Amino acid sequence: MATKLEDIVSLCKRRGFIFPGSDVYGGMAGTWDFGPLGVALKKKIENEWWDFFVEKREDIFGVDAAILMNPRTWIASGHTATFADPLVECKECKSRFRADKIAEGISESVTTEEFLETHTKCPVCGKENWGPIRKFNMMFSTHVGAVLPEDVNGDEESKALAEKSVAYLRPETAQGIFTNYKNVVDTIYPDLPFGLAQQGKAFRNEISPRDFILRDRECSQMEIEYFVRPDAWEEDFEKMRKLQHEFLEDVVKLPTKNIHELEVPAEDRAHYSKRTIDFMFDYPNGEEELMGLAYRTDFDLSNIQRESGKSMEYRDKNTGETFVPHVIEPSIGVERLFLAILSTAYTEEEKDGKTRILLKFPENLAPYKFCVSPLLKNKPELVKKAKEVYNLLREKYKNVTWDDSGNIGKRYMKQDEIGTPKCVVIDFDTLEDETVTIRDRDTTDQIRVRIEEL
Ligand SMILES: [Zn+2]
Repeated sequence: MATKLEDIVSLCKRRGFIFPGSDVYGGMAGTWDFGPLGVALKKKIENEWWDFFVEKREDIFGVDAAILMNPRTWIASGHTATFADPLVECKECKSRFRADKIAEGISESVTTEEFLETHTKCPVCGKENWGPIRKFNMMFSTHVGAVLPEDVNGDEESKALAEKSVAYLRPETAQGIFTNYKNVVDTIYPDLPFGLAQQGKAFRNEISPRDFILRDRECSQMEIEYFVRPDAWEEDFEKMRKLQHEFLEDVVKLPTKNIHELEVPAEDRAHYSKRTIDFMFDYPNGEEELMGLAYRTDFDLSNIQRESGKSMEYRDKNTGETFVPHVIEPSIGVERLFLAILSTAYTEEEKDGKTRILLKFPENLAPYKFCVSPLLKNKPELVKKAKEVYNLLREKYKNVTWDDSGNIGKRYMKQDEIGTPKCVVIDFDTLEDETVTIRDRDTTDQIRVRIEEL
């Protein structure tokens, strides 16, 4: 049976993985909050990525840059001028849409004339009466320092003050890496090729956020800028491409058959890229981008060099040759990967006329490794022994949960739904012979083992 996105959204809320943002106040479009189980999974994903790409490698180092950056960053990067979506307003009902999302066969660079020729009807009121296409910049702006509301809308002097204080929440984490390239080269003198990795939030004011956590207004990115010799970019691009597959397939265990590489044609590539491969994934609601691998040339460093007036050249230690390095960028959204892992794990099984829902997480990602329970909650001797086992396992593995609610069947059902691989049950035999029952999530088989073997 094909998994539906709604089933996953519902499980996420029911079991504390993901809640709508600001739920108690009726929500806030394009935001989602991670609950206890969701955070546990998210942190494991982030840690596996960091471990694989940074800690296990000699050529990639970490940075953690500020979210608020000097606005010149976004002038140099091109975001101030080009990070915009085509916005169109229905003159009848005043609803606003992203033009390329409501009309067939047009791109982000659609003109008003081209849009009108598609004869698209308003998805809200059904009329066809459109205003002109306007470029809507997706960066969230804010004011830094002591700016009063009247400064923003007031007289010329205060308007100038307000304008001067404008800053943006970063629309991508990449620029936090590029702006630190020079500091890193000057402090740790890495040999080329080398990479800088960062995990952190990025913000995009999407006109119509949708598809659960796939297209939200703030997301967590995991990015590497890999600095290479200009003449070696093809070789390093292949190296990075192979590493991405290794991470996705061997570390977080996504099925190879669900990952598809899409060579992005020149006209669809971001303005800075000479080659991009989108790694697409079969999500429950269709094929969607999971991550991107882009060759950004020397676009960013050269722009920073021009805007800042500071040299971004790298001096080769052996030959003394100087040049601005080129960049290969693998970039993945944590939420996109989270949903890919969740939808891979989501399983419904029919057994004895009942549907069993389980999350078949790989062991390295399951929020809990074990659940420990006393067979009966009202027998103090069982509870005492179970607590002993629980504490023992917690000391050994950390990620262990306790459950003494309801009956044993209900507990198994709950642990299946949060993806706990093993349930350990303490019963009267345990008191006699120091053995416990271990029940396997995927097979539901139960075996008896000695506590010391756990
Ligand atoms: Zn309308």
